[in-house]
Amino acid sequence: MTDTTASSIKKPKVVMVGEVPLGGDHPVTVQSMLIVPFSGRLEGLGERFQAFKALGCDILRVAVPDMKSVKDLPQLVRLAPFPVVADIHFDHRIALAALDTGIAKLRVNPGNLGPEWKTLEVLKKAGDKGIPVRVGINSGSLPQKVKDKQDQASAMILAAEEEIEIMEKGRFYNAVFSLKSSDVETTYRANELFACRYDYPLHLGVTEAGPLVEGIVKSTLALSKLLARGIGSTLRVSLSDSEENEIITGKSILRALGMSTGTDIVSCPRCGRSTFDTQAFLGAYGDRIRKSGKNITVAVMGCTVNGPGEAAAADLGITGEGNHRMIFRKGEILGRFSPEEAVRVFFEELESS
Ligand code: SF4
Repeated sequence: MTDTTASSIKKPKVVMVGEVPLGGDHPVTVQSMLIVPFSGRLEGLGERFQAFKALGCDILRVAVPDMKSVKDLPQLVRLAPFPVVADIHFDHRIALAALDTGIAKLRVNPGNLGPEWKTLEVLKKAGDKGIPVRVGINSGSLPQKVKDKQDQASAMILAAEEEIEIMEKGRFYNAVFSLKSSDVETTYRANELFACRYDYPLHLGVTEAGPLVEGIVKSTLALSKLLARGIGSTLRVSLSDSEENEIITGKSILRALGMSTGTDIVSCPRCGRSTFDTQAFLGAYGDRIRKSGKNITVAVMGCTVNGPGEAAAADLGITGEGNHRMIFRKGEILGRFSPEEAVRVFFEELESS
């Protein structure tokens, strides 16, 4: 029986992913994964990457399914303003080739790389090049011998133990682990057990978490419980949605836990008194607000009667009625503007915050 009291949680050692440190006392980082193939489709990726970065993406993972993708990896790495992680399954030759492309980390599931010597070959080369490896343990693809264990979290720990044995046999210690399940409690338990036994940094996530709303709920439940206990060095919120929404959710979880800075948006749900469409305004300008990088609270409120007062704590706010918009700071009205003028003034105020 593993002791899972607070004092038994091990402080993770530091693993460098390019310039980004994971573990130690370093801030928890946010990751996402490119949801489309990139091979032969690099055009426009540079701008998208800049947008990911502005929203708070610290590390990006890309699937590298074949040698054609490996060929395009160096160019993708050059376009990326953050470290790139290559995700490899099944073919260790792809992993070996990817290690020469400028990637900052390799993500493998050693269980599906074939015989042990293939994994050792990959680890040897990663070790020689100083590139860390994330070992991904997913409840859906556990090795046969642990698969039938009743307790999924314990089965995942057994699978991790096996991987650690192989790694350490190859004198490889520059690793990050992830233990993901689509079940919230299993994800929580597996990561808790791991953190009480090993000091490898943990990459947190709920796998196949679902569409936007369901995925956010499950991920927030599992991840916030772990992070609040000091477990986890990096995270990815997996959603059947855009990379942008994964990043925004990850950043929001960290900010709500007081573990990250950035622009916090508060907005009212609207009610029968509503005179301003908060949803439409946030749909049009939400990302621009988030990308400002300002450590302030921005309020988008649905009526001029209650909005400025209810959001009196916000550093900057906007509401409206009919053909005018009202901009306020700390509840104090700065002025009334036409809709077009209000957008300009609002972002000028944001920039000067
Ligand atoms: S700010 Fe106005 S519109 Fe929004 S919930 Fe409050 S009363 Fe309703």
